[in-house]
Amino acid sequence: MERTYIKDLKNKVGEDVLIKGWVDIRRDQGKMIFFDFRDMSGKVQGVVLPPPAGGQDTLDTAKEIRSEWVLAVTGKVNARPEKNVKVDVLNGDIELEILKIEVLNKAETPPFELNDNTFGINEEVRLKYRYLDLRSTRMQHNIRFRYKLIKHVRDELNERGFIEVETPILTKSTPEGARDYVVPSRLYPGNFYALPQAPQQYKQLLMVAGVEKYFQIARCFRDEDTRGDRQPEFTQLDMELSFVEREDVMRVNEELLISVVKTLAPEKKIQQIPFPRFTYKEAMEKYSTDRPDLREDKTDPNLLAFCWVIDFPFFEKADYSTGSGWTFTHNPFSRALPEHEKWLKNKENIDEIITTQYDVILNGFEIGGGSIRNHNPELLKAVLEIIGFTPEQMEANFGHLLKAFTFGTPPHGGIAWGLDRFVALLLNEPNIREVIPFAKTGEGRDLMMDSPAPISETQSKELHIKSTDGK
Ligand code: ASP
Repeated sequence: MERTYIKDLKNKVGEDVLIKGWVDIRRDQGKMIFFDFRDMSGKVQGVVLPPPAGGQDTLDTAKEIRSEWVLAVTGKVNARPEKNVKVDVLNGDIELEILKIEVLNKAETPPFELNDNTFGINEEVRLKYRYLDLRSTRMQHNIRFRYKLIKHVRDELNERGFIEVETPILTKSTPEGARDYVVPSRLYPGNFYALPQAPQQYKQLLMVAGVEKYFQIARCFRDEDTRGDRQPEFTQLDMELSFVEREDVMRVNEELLISVVKTLAPEKKIQQIPFPRFTYKEAMEKYSTDRPDLREDKTDPNLLAFCWVIDFPFFEKADYSTGSGWTFTHNPFSRALPEHEKWLKNKENIDEIITTQYDVILNGFEIGGGSIRNHNPELLKAVLEIIGFTPEQMEANFGHLLKAFTFGTPPHGGIAWGLDRFVALLLNEPNIREVIPFAKTGEGRDLMMDSPAPISETQSKELHIKSTDGK
């Protein structure tokens, strides 16, 4: 018999069916045994009736079965008597009369109860047994919602003429303001790849390459000190467009954000459309933060208050031992406002230069940011000079980009969304670990794989590395 998915059982009343899945709950009532079965599509209640209605064999098998065992169950779909109907529950009006049970796999008692919501359970245990935690209704919902959101974004950007392009993971350090994760090279002793903090340079090079409308669901890696709700690797919706102004990028993204909410979270209310805008200065004066939480009612879990913050200072003073004393506030590749380009060129009024950077804020969280870029190599050089790069450093770090920009580069700009955060906010989850299938702890450990972990001596030798800890 062909397998029926649990969600389709309601169309099979009166028929014999075969389902496959897990035992969600088992209730032994002595004479009869009730089960809730679960597969990826839903849950259904099943019952083993005592003889003569049911077989003694099946009852004996059922007595041994425990939660989380994997079964193939043959049964008859019956409509429930009126008084037992559960409204608003999938399969609340049917029941499976179990005729035969085949045990496909037994299960040890799980280390915690896999109920609908595992949020209250010790998180370290959940992360160690993540594959079990993901069986819970809430986590299943979260990973499926995340998939739908990504699919929606892909479909909509495809409609708008974007293509998704993969960029390398083994790459070279990009100055996005955080520390790099590095990978030692076996073939080039003493040399290292860096994992991308963002695909920033590649996406700009794709604009040089004539792609014009790029996006990528991109994994990014930043070796930051433990800061609560951060992950060493996280996901961006990364985007770049050619021949655009700031308004164009902001419009595409505002439309996309609205369409994601309306399609996937219709219960949510967007407080204000078009999204209100503040300059950095206004936001600081009015809210003392550049990520204001504008919700009129902060107790309403379904209220979404988006806003844009624009006109950030390009540079800020930084107390670094090397360099010029200046650093960029967001992105060294950004363009200044056209009226400030002269200052940039002349390196004057540095603290007054405003960048084309735009950040998008949701309920007090920055969920995205981007800018129009400097496609003119002279202006990019000026930025790098201001932040203290010597000509040699510039050549070593950005020679390829500066060179590329001499071959006919369209004006371009883009943005990246912090996808994990956006998904968490739409699902009312308190942190991004709840929406990352295999999350690490706040301290950057993968408790399930037990990583980071030492490597063998042979590996270290091959990679020409030696730990200063003597391990
Ligand atoms: N690469 C930037 C970031 O990761 C986003 C952008 O400017 O497109 O923050």
